[in-house]
Amino acid sequence: MKLAKRSNIAPSLTLAMNTKAKQMRAKGIDVISFAAGEPDFTTPEHVKEAGKKAIDGNKTYYTPVSGIIELKEIVAKKLKKENGLDFTTDEITINSGAKHSVFNALSVLVENGDEVIVPSPYWVSYTEMVRILGADFRTIETSEETGFKITPKDLENVFSDRTKVVLLNSPNNPTGAVYNKKEIFAIAEYLEDKDIVIVADEIYEKIVYDGNVHVSIAGYSDKIKSKTVIVNGVSKAFSMTGWRIGYAAGPAEIIGAVNKLQGHTCGNPTSISQWASVAALQQNSSFITGWVSEFKKRKDYIVKKLNDCKPITCADPEGAFYVFPNVSGLYGSVLKGNTIKDSVDLADYLLNKGKIAVVPGKAFGADNYIRISFATSMDNIIEGIKRLEGCLP
Ligand code: PMP
Ligand code: GLU
Repeated sequence: MKLAKRSNIAPSLTLAMNTKAKQMRAKGIDVISFAAGEPDFTTPEHVKEAGKKAIDGNKTYYTPVSGIIELKEIVAKKLKKENGLDFTTDEITINSGAKHSVFNALSVLVENGDEVIVPSPYWVSYTEMVRILGADFRTIETSEETGFKITPKDLENVFSDRTKVVLLNSPNNPTGAVYNKKEIFAIAEYLEDKDIVIVADEIYEKIVYDGNVHVSIAGYSDKIKSKTVIVNGVSKAFSMTGWRIGYAAGPAEIIGAVNKLQGHTCGNPTSISQWASVAALQQNSSFITGWVSEFKKRKDYIVKKLNDCKPITCADPEGAFYVFPNVSGLYGSVLKGNTIKDSVDLADYLLNKGKIAVVPGKAFGADNYIRISFATSMDNIIEGIKRLEGCLP
């Protein structure tokens, strides 16, 4: 049997590490997982109730491909109220998770020979998506020194006549970088006259710390908005990862093309989840503030502890729920008989010897780092850090 070249894709390492940890736990091994890319809170009761009501009310049939009008209207309201952006429902599409939204958008935008510019470290799935579509993945390297952020100058250095999409993700997975208004608008200013599309993945919008504020690049000007596709969803903000609802808002031409693609490949996102998402976006979401302050406590603890673990250094994330410590000081050492050459060796060693699961930075194009998710309880974090300390020289 010969599979298409397109099938030659790397598995999602974030999902793989999480699964590995769960499998070890199922076997009775006491693993603490720092691999999860999902909030550890439960879906709010009123959202679950709306899902149950949708089932009981027989809202279990196909919906319009682009999503139910009630959900698109509430997304439009959210974008107006929280981001100051006007979108009609023709400019909004509902998809099966934000991952699907990104892939849908890229699918109608890029092809062989096109280039997608992405700041690195980047979220694991971006590379493979771009590769599946036959386009080239062009990274801009960032580090702790630059706050893991790019500038217009960095963009200028890599920009070419093949550049078709600039893919931005703020708040960022895995680095936690959040572009402030000045930083994101400087990028907008540079891109305003370029013949490209910006895909802005804003899925961690609500999870920001220490006075940082999420600003959407689309708010810079009408011109920038006319070339931006915003991606967001309910997974992270409402602890609804399993419900699989994401959305994209952008120019009607792009959204229309996405809807045609979706009509042939997925049909509609789950009807029940769409109704639950209406409830999520409709109600007072003040509980998110409580979640964020819980995340902040964990973040502050973990950042301090990691910086006490020489030779590890750890930047303080501005958003999302990951820390991305630099562990390269450990490379070349032999720990309890294990040679540590790179982030994959270190993640394997920590899992096998320390019974803690982390994601190697290699998955995000940054081998000097590992990703530790603090979307787990404070007890787990305290115990997990103790185990990490026990694994270090
Ligand atoms: N973008 C980023 C940066 C993410 O971390 C995730 C998490 N999986 C997604 C998109 C996709 O989210 P969803 O679960 O809604 O597909
Ligand atoms: N976005 C999460 C992560 O980076 C979830 C896993 C995934 O979808 O890849 O871990």
